[in-house]
Amino acid sequence: MPRATTVSIDLGAISNNIAVLKTSLGATRFMGVVKADAYGHGAVPVAQHIEGSVDAFAVAFTEEALALRAAGIGKPILILEGPHSAEDVALAAEENLWLALHEHSQVDWCLPRGDALPHLWIKIDTGMHRLGFPAEQLSTVRRSLENAGCARLTLMSHLASAELPESPLSKRQLDRWHEIVSDWPYEMSLSNSAASRLGLAAKDTWGRLGYAMYGGLITGSTSNSALKPAMQFHTTVMALRQVGAGESVGYGGHWTAQRDSVIATLPVGYGDGYPWSAQSGTPVAVNGKKVPLVGRVSMDMVTVDVTDCGSVAIGTPAILWGQNPGVDEVAEACGTIGYELITRMTGRATRRYRK
Ligand SMILES: *Cc1c(COP(=O)(O)O)cnc(C)c1O
Repeated sequence: MPRATTVSIDLGAISNNIAVLKTSLGATRFMGVVKADAYGHGAVPVAQHIEGSVDAFAVAFTEEALALRAAGIGKPILILEGPHSAEDVALAAEENLWLALHEHSQVDWCLPRGDALPHLWIKIDTGMHRLGFPAEQLSTVRRSLENAGCARLTLMSHLASAELPESPLSKRQLDRWHEIVSDWPYEMSLSNSAASRLGLAAKDTWGRLGYAMYGGLITGSTSNSALKPAMQFHTTVMALRQVGAGESVGYGGHWTAQRDSVIATLPVGYGDGYPWSAQSGTPVAVNGKKVPLVGRVSMDMVTVDVTDCGSVAIGTPAILWGQNPGVDEVAEACGTIGYELITRMTGRATRRYRK
């Protein structure tokens, strides 16, 4: 019998989310971000499923793009880190990859092949201070690329705190961006999921959307309800026992029953990607009802308190995250973010795809 612990990927939910996001983006073009194995959803099956509904893809580095090309993906793919060598630039010309440039050596690698490169993105540092040229260098970079025959240039930047548009950091970045783009004649792109959901960059040619496409919750946004989580991480109850008041459960005896309790053991643990940092109280749905995780997460198992859950038997379904509880809610109880939980699945639990 196949192991009950599986990761169901609902490709239809991703299509639904793209349609929802496109409505709010209006004329802005849709770049589907599928880096890090499509945030743990499987880059090839996701890209194959959505290729017809996105204008382009984005990944972090060249090897991620080549894996998509090898699987038959033909749409343009933006390399967010840009080239790491002149060879990466040669590959970009051959494979119709778009390159983000954030550093002078990358520009130098591009100049000899200017007219063979389909589309270059110039990344400007507006205040995140991770990647990008300072605004003062933009005109020099732009001129040298134009002189080298680069036909298509897009200006891009990234927000450090897009989910908090009123924060001083966001305000500073948005002010700088609007100043820079006021005399920029070509395409531009500022928005990630949060910025797109909040409509922060009205003139964007491109929205670069990852997390929202997978149905992740964007903090601060009021209209998430139409987005459906694409990943459901689930299993079934493997064992049940009565634990008397005063007895502890799991490694280190970190959780002690305050009353006579019914404890269900689920065959899923940090070996599958369920976070070890999950605290007692982290929600798990058993039989459709949210119950608390109790005790430490093991490599292969977790324990949950199903005392108030009604009828639970061996084989009763349990949901670690999906529609309810959502991955963002679980992440909060683990001191992390939903992005990390979905992206760092270990591959041990089999992924099953649904259209
Ligand atoms: C990952 C990434 C995105 C997508 O961010 P989401 O919050 O997942 O939408 C957009 N732009 C850049 C530069 C990125 O690295």
